[in-house]
Amino acid sequence: MCSRCDGFSERIRIDHPYEYFNIVEQVKEILYVGTLEIIQGNCDFYSLQKGQPWPGDVLYHIFKCTSCERKFELSVETYHGSGGVWDVANL
Ligand SMILES: [Zn+2]
Repeated sequence: MCSRCDGFSERIRIDHPYEYFNIVEQVKEILYVGTLEIIQGNCDFYSLQKGQPWPGDVLYHIFKCTSCERKFELSVETYHGSGGVWDVANL
């Protein structure tokens, strides 16, 4: 772990789609500045946009801190609306 990614280490529970998209937009900026990078996922993260159809029933992406390799997961279940989470991934 390192100081660059400590600010992302808090678990965030996602109960509504707008919360998911808020995080997606924040993460896009974090990816843009290079603090995190995508290492895994089951759909194109950059195509995720509010108002567009969900690309799948369950979406997940794994990110890695480019300084210390700590991993983070963003996942959401869209079909039943049971929500999702942003969290440190123990991979
Ligand atoms: Zn880090």
